[in-house]
Amino acid sequence: MQFIQPDDKNTDDHTVVQITLPKPIAPGASVEFHIVFHDVLPKVVERTGYAHDFDMVGQWFPKVGVWWKNAWNCHQFHANTEFFADFGTFDVKITVPQNEIVGAGGDLVSSATNPDGTKTLTYHSEDVHDFSWTASPSFTVVEDSWTGSQGPVKIHLLISPGHESSSQRYIKAAKGSLQLFDEWYGPYPYDRLTMVDPPHGGADAGGMEYPTLITLGTGVHMPQGVLAPEVVTEHEFGHQYWYGMVATNEFEEAWLDEGINSYTEVKVMDALYGKNTSVLNFPFAQMGESGLQQIGYLADPAKDPISRFAWLFYNNNSYGGITYSKTATMLLTLEKVIGEDTLRQALHTYFMRYRFTHPTGEDFLKTIEEVSGKDLHWYFNQAVYGTQVLDYSLADAHSDPLKWWDAAAHDSKKSDKDEIYRTYVTVVRKGDFQFPVDLEVKFEDHTTATEHWDGQDRWVRYHYDRKTKIESAQIDAHNQITMDRDYFNNSYIEDANPRAAHKLRNIWVFASEWLSQLLAWLT
Ligand SMILES: [Zn+2]
Repeated sequence: MQFIQPDDKNTDDHTVVQITLPKPIAPGASVEFHIVFHDVLPKVVERTGYAHDFDMVGQWFPKVGVWWKNAWNCHQFHANTEFFADFGTFDVKITVPQNEIVGAGGDLVSSATNPDGTKTLTYHSEDVHDFSWTASPSFTVVEDSWTGSQGPVKIHLLISPGHESSSQRYIKAAKGSLQLFDEWYGPYPYDRLTMVDPPHGGADAGGMEYPTLITLGTGVHMPQGVLAPEVVTEHEFGHQYWYGMVATNEFEEAWLDEGINSYTEVKVMDALYGKNTSVLNFPFAQMGESGLQQIGYLADPAKDPISRFAWLFYNNNSYGGITYSKTATMLLTLEKVIGEDTLRQALHTYFMRYRFTHPTGEDFLKTIEEVSGKDLHWYFNQAVYGTQVLDYSLADAHSDPLKWWDAAAHDSKKSDKDEIYRTYVTVVRKGDFQFPVDLEVKFEDHTTATEHWDGQDRWVRYHYDRKTKIESAQIDAHNQITMDRDYFNNSYIEDANPRAAHKLRNIWVFASEWLSQLLAWLT
């Protein structure tokens, strides 16, 4: 047995072990390992450990690497990387004091009390690639159930003291997510979902996914208008599909889990809680999920491509912003090219075809091309494999009398009904990302003009000769190009108040910083 460092040759790294067998395993033969290990839980850090009487037991046993693409795929533990493990069956016996309330990622098969004041619980779990559990004598247990296309699912919610008021918010978000994933992407095949609400002081155990067990997070006085308990429930539940069942290699292609999961978070949260109110919903302040993802992406959009290995990102912020939010944002923008329904169908096909198989990014992108019937290389080369930033700007818009030299023609005493104005509208591509852009021009007489520009050149200029002047011009009027770095330069309004725009921009910057904190907390 020896430690190996396949990623960086750092010989101080003892997170991967290689075992050389005395003789090779013949084709069709098998070998059985008995591994004795001990583990000491830390104080809660990075989603595992203890806080007071609460234990969250995750990442606690040696995992077997994945035989993938004809080789062992087994990466070192890095600060930014998440998981890759193979499917199997877990039979787990847990012995704890009798007063502990336990939740685990498996079905409880039996429970026996021991003479020494402990009890031994036996769990069984199939078609999963990890097993985690939690224990605390202070949990309140909330039982519920939901029935989908594959039958009933038992919901066990373990609530920490003081958080009872969030129980039904968690349950409603979980059932809504189960329902929409079942309808849109495919069935949830397990018969249980355990949801763990960490106590005050143990919040670092929250916002985490394991097969059929997720950890959440709330506060004692969580305002109804802050949808943090709902967002975390939906997000961690969504991982049951992309991390749990599709199970891509998160060391090498983290975006296939966290990124697709952030996109489905937008779709599910918006459907359940409203497009503009799915993150914040106060009379004085509202925000939807796509805005949240845009903020995450735009914090640092140009240092790393989505496709980079997770531990090679510029830093933690770039990893989070690109892997989660850029992926969500580029899929939202892709809706404009192939349609929202087609992208939903592509995700359904991808899930049904590749669940339990560890597919790659190429498999995902090919499925989108296949289902949409479109060649999308031009888009993926920029959005997935590139670092180009998208920014189209309405550079100039104005109307002048066509016969500007003819003073009589625009004499103010004379009726100007016959006066013809030439209107120019100029759109500039400020970024290196090329994407088709729609332009909408409105005139004072309520007539309009619409243009579709392929967005390839650096700029385009349109002109109109009409008996009316321009009132406004707008590119991407329905805000579908969510990758656009700057929405503030997308429109021109005659007599606009520049101070209002400036003030709005300040509020946007403030909200961005606050919300990116919320986003950084999800794992
Ligand atoms: Zn996540």
